[in-house]
Amino acid sequence: MKLESSENEMAEEQIRILEKNEYVDVYIDDLSHEGLGVGKVDGYTLFIKDALPGEKVKAKVTKTKKRFGFARLLEIIEHSPHRVEPPCPIYAQCGGCQLQHLGYEEQLRQKEQQVRSQLTKIGGIDLEQVKVHPTLGMSEPWRYRNKAQVPIGENEGGLIGGFYRQGTHDIIDMQECLIQHEANDEVIQKTKDIAQELGIRAYDEQKHSGLLRHVVVKYGFYTQELMIVLITKEETIPHKEMFIEKLRESFPNLKSIIRNVNKAKTNVIFGEQTKVLWGEEYIYDQIGDIRFAISARSFYQVNPQQTKVLYDKALEYAQLQGHETVIDAYCGIGTISLFLAQKAKKVLGVEVVPEAIADAKRNARLNHIENAEFAVGEAEKVIPWWKAQGITADVIVVDPPRKGCDEALLETIIQMKPERVVYVSCNPSTLARDLKFLEDGGFKTVEVQPVDMFPHTSHVECVVLLQRQ
Ligand code: SAH
Repeated sequence: MKLESSENEMAEEQIRILEKNEYVDVYIDDLSHEGLGVGKVDGYTLFIKDALPGEKVKAKVTKTKKRFGFARLLEIIEHSPHRVEPPCPIYAQCGGCQLQHLGYEEQLRQKEQQVRSQLTKIGGIDLEQVKVHPTLGMSEPWRYRNKAQVPIGENEGGLIGGFYRQGTHDIIDMQECLIQHEANDEVIQKTKDIAQELGIRAYDEQKHSGLLRHVVVKYGFYTQELMIVLITKEETIPHKEMFIEKLRESFPNLKSIIRNVNKAKTNVIFGEQTKVLWGEEYIYDQIGDIRFAISARSFYQVNPQQTKVLYDKALEYAQLQGHETVIDAYCGIGTISLFLAQKAKKVLGVEVVPEAIADAKRNARLNHIENAEFAVGEAEKVIPWWKAQGITADVIVVDPPRKGCDEALLETIIQMKPERVVYVSCNPSTLARDLKFLEDGGFKTVEVQPVDMFPHTSHVECVVLLQRQ
């Protein structure tokens, strides 16, 4: 203990905490999980937006903390060979993408690197023993999103819709978003134009006045069906019938117009009241052979093409022969569960949001799948309860949110002794932590497959196969 603390003190002695506004030359040797360039000056770590590994840059320190600080990129002295011109004209102001200035092949390599580094640093996993595959990317990594969610505002010229300038609530008008499907861009533009023509005012966050807060568009890549959701501050929309008619005229594949009322002074997008203004309550889409009903509020993966890649990999790792009972924890609207049900004897899905479970059940019926059952509740409570009832599983799939799995759930998985665990993760650091827990409990991490669900952003998704020893 003594030795350790004196070592720490020594290490700290060598670090010079930089001054705010100091100018520095920095060699960038890493990319943070938020897509920032990382480099050291006098032992002190700096995070620099837009700087890339392999680059030498001039920067100005903007913010300092005890162990690290932030700096603004002023000049690139030596360029990375992987640097590219971001194709989006508003990339610099918008916070939506973080990696457009890095060539796509290199984005994929960086994401794999990110996963490798978390697995070793946090998970203590020996990469000699585990196959970490190259990231599965998209051949056309643009226009992949099926859902747009756009805040509406006003300037001198009338209604605007776009995104919040980074770190603010000022709306910047946007004509197109290169990671959105074109249909979504068109709908947003048209909806804005029609609302403007009809004299509908945008919601003003400061004054808590006006009407139209957000426009949400959902598009089924497979079915080409469109849903428009208007989020308004009040129930009444002036010239509502005309609004509906004009939208219908503009988009023949429009299936659903929904109004959601949000009266609250909040930056949460949706309010509690949802009503069909015209058409259906759902649009449909398909991933592989499975059809899904998508409602205004339900969660559905935003990149359908890569979702197929992700789920196929989860299915491959599950190695189902047809006689297995499978548990799908954090099942959402049952997407993975229904994929698995095609190959298993029985699938039990569990999810905390009741509406998602209602959707999951509806989706099972829609696809005539009878061997999938769904329960509402926290996975860490429901699965131990199942275990107490004598239910076991041959394979357990988990797909938790960013914070990873609850320890109580991991403990139950260890006690249930399934042959395999398939871990789908959107956060490599909590994944690494949970793998360590499962490894200590008798499982062995066999393969890790990073999948690029969100090109040009810093997010990484992984599917991992664990085998019981
Ligand atoms: N597997 C689904 C959804 C994954 S997202 C798909 O691929 O579409 C993670 C899900 O976990 C969300 O639906 C969230 O509501 C749910 N969730 C969060 N905490 C949970 C908990 N403690 N128990 C069960 N589900 C939870």
